[in-house]
Amino acid sequence: MFREIAADSFRRADRLRGIELSEIVQISEQAARLKAQGVDVVALSTGEPDFPTPEHVIKAAHQAALAGQTRYPATAGVPDLRAAIAEDAGVQSQNVIVSTGAKQVLSGALMATLDPGDEVITAAPFWTSYADMVRLSGGIPVVLDCPVSQGFKLTPAQLEAAITPRTRWLLLNTPANPTGAVYTESEIQALGRVLDRHPNVWVISDEIYQHLTYVPFTPFVQAVPHLADRVLTVNGVSKAYSMTGWRIGWGIGPSPLIKAMIAVQGQITSGACSIAQAAALAAITGPQTLLGERLQAMRARRDLVVAGLNAAGLECAVPDGAFYVFPKTPAEMPVDHEFCRYLLDEVGVALVPGRAFGLPGHLRLSFAYATESLQEGLRRISVATARLK
Ligand code: PMP
Repeated sequence: MFREIAADSFRRADRLRGIELSEIVQISEQAARLKAQGVDVVALSTGEPDFPTPEHVIKAAHQAALAGQTRYPATAGVPDLRAAIAEDAGVQSQNVIVSTGAKQVLSGALMATLDPGDEVITAAPFWTSYADMVRLSGGIPVVLDCPVSQGFKLTPAQLEAAITPRTRWLLLNTPANPTGAVYTESEIQALGRVLDRHPNVWVISDEIYQHLTYVPFTPFVQAVPHLADRVLTVNGVSKAYSMTGWRIGWGIGPSPLIKAMIAVQGQITSGACSIAQAAALAAITGPQTLLGERLQAMRARRDLVVAGLNAAGLECAVPDGAFYVFPKTPAEMPVDHEFCRYLLDEVGVALVPGRAFGLPGHLRLSFAYATESLQEGLRRISVATARLK
C-alpha cells in the first residue's frame, strides 16, 4: 500500500536527533526473531516479572468493565485510586496523578517543567529512557559516572559539582535499574544536605522497584521530609504486581507540579485506561501477601545468578533491590556489545550491554525469569567464557 518513499522526503523533528528504539527493546526483539526461526535462545534481557497478574486483580478489571467503567476517566486518575494512593502516602488526592505507566509520569513531569537548555542530573548507570526523555522535553541530561567502586551510587560531592543555574531536577532511581543499588537513609540525607544549599533544584525519585528490595528500603521523602515540597515520587503497579501490560503508574508531589502534569496529560492521553485503574486499585488495596512470597522467590534467583556469574568469571556485585545484576565483561572480551553479540551467536543467550545504561564494560542480566531458564542461561554463559580462555 505504501510506496517506499525516499529517506530524504521524510524529516524527523530536531528534538528526535539521536533518539532511537531502546537497545533493550532491540535486543529482546532480535531474541524473539531468532526464537521464531527455531534458534534455541535464552533471553535474560527484559525487565518484566514472569509471574502472572494476580487473579483477583483481573477479576476486578472484568467487573469494572461490566459495571460500565468504560468511559473517559478523570484526567488526573479515577478518584478512588487517587484517594487510595494518597492515603497510603499520607497526602491529599490533589498531590497524586495517575498516568499510563511510571514512564508517562516521568515524561509528563519533564515535559511540564523543562525549558530548552534546562539540565537534569542523573547517575549512570541509569535506566535507558531517562536521558532520551529529558532530550525529548528539550532538556539536557547531565550524566554522572557512578562506577561499582561507589556502589553505582551518586555521591554528594558529585551532585554538588554538577549543579549549575540551569539545573532543574536531580533524577534518582532507588532501587535502581540496571544495578539494583538502593540508597540508604543516611545516603539520601547526605544528598539532601547538598540540595539544602540549592533550593531551585527539585528531585524526581523513581521508586518503581520499592517492593523488590532485599535490604530495608527508605523512600526519598521519608529520609528528608523537609524537602517534600520539591520532590516527585514515582511508583506504579508494573513491577510489584506483575502488571507491566496494564500501564498504570503514579506520581506523588506538590500540587502545583501535579496540576501542571495534569494539564499535559489532559492534552496527550485524557488519562490512563479506566479498566486498568480499577485493576490497580484492587492490586494496592487487596491482599499483599504475594509481595513477600514473590520477593523470596526473587531473592533465591538473585543468589543463584550472582554465584553463577562469578563462577563463570564475570565479576558481579550483589544487588540490594530490583531484579537485575550488572556484572563486568570478561577481561578477554571487555567491549560490552561485542561480548553480548558473542553470547548470542555462540551460546544463544541474550543480555543487554552496559552502554545502553551509560556505563560500558558491563552487562545487564534480568533475573525475573523462571529458575530453569536462569540455570540454563548460566550454564551457557560459563561455556562461552571458558571458550575465551
Ligand atoms: N522506571 C524504571 C527504573 C523502570 O525500570 C521502568 C520499567 N522498565 C519504569 C520506570 C517504567 O515503568 P512502567 O511500566 O510503570 O511505565
